Amino acid sequence: MDLSEISDGKLYEIDDLCRLGCSDCAGCSSCCHDTEGLMLDPLDVARIMKAAGKDFMSLIERELELVMVDEMLLPKMKMDARNACCFLDRNGRCSIHPLRPGICRLFPLGRYYENDDYRYFLQTLECRKHDRYKLRIRDWLDEKDAEGYHDYVMSWHRFLKLMEKKLPLLTDESRSSVTSYILKMFFLAPYHSAEAPGPDFDTEDFYTEYYSRMFRVRETLSPLFPDSAAPYPGS
Ligand code: SF4
Ligand code: SF4
Repeated sequence: MDLSEISDGKLYEIDDLCRLGCSDCAGCSSCCHDTEGLMLDPLDVARIMKAAGKDFMSLIERELELVMVDEMLLPKMKMDARNACCFLDRNGRCSIHPLRPGICRLFPLGRYYENDDYRYFLQTLECRKHDRYKLRIRDWLDEKDAEGYHDYVMSWHRFLKLMEKKLPLLTDESRSSVTSYILKMFFLAPYHSAEAPGPDFDTEDFYTEYYSRMFRVRETLSPLFPDSAAPYPGS
C-alpha cells in the first residue's frame, strides 16, 4: 500500500492529535453506503448481537453475510436495497452507534501493521467533510479500555495472519473442518457478554471469553500446525 497516495503521509500513535472531528457527521452518512469490504471480527459480532438482540444465525439471515477470505469463512456487513449498511436508519444515522463495529469507530483512520504492532494513518480521500478539526485518536476510537482493545486487535490480527499462512497447507477436507471450527468457536457459539440482560455490553467479559476460546483453539489446532505453537495470540 502506498500511504502517500491515500493519506497525509503520517503514521499516528493513539495519543496523537489528528484531523478527525466532523461534528458528529451531521447530515452525512456517506461511509455507511457501499461498505462491501466491511469485515467483522468477533468483538464486532458480539456487540452487534447485543445491539440487535439476535444470535449469529439470525443476523446472517438479514444483516450479515459470510464470505471466504484467505481460506477462512468470515462475517461482513450486508448491504440493503439502498446499498447501505442494514443498521443505517431512515434518518441516515447509525442505529447501533454505541455498539458499532471497530472499523466504523476507526474511520477515516486506518491501521498500518508493522513490526508486530500497528499505528494509524488518516485516509484523506474517504471522508466527505473537508473542515475537520483536530481530536485525540484515543478519544475518537470511543473505547473505554484502549490498551485492552489494542491487545485484542493484535491477537485477532496475528491469528488471521497465521491461518492465512497455514490453511493453504492443509487438505481440502481438513481446511474445511478447521474453517468451520474457527467460525463456530469465534462467531457461532454465543458470548455471555452479548446475551447478558440490560443495555450495556461488558467488553471486559467479552475479552475473558475470547481469550479462553483462543486458548482452546490453539490447543485444538496445535497438532495440525506443530511448528507454530508459539507465539499464538491471546495465550
Ligand atoms: S454499523 Fe453504523 S456506522 Fe457502521 S456502517 Fe453500519 S450504520 Fe454505518
Ligand atoms: S464521510 Fe465523513 S462526515 Fe460523512 S459519515 Fe463518513 S466520517 Fe462522517
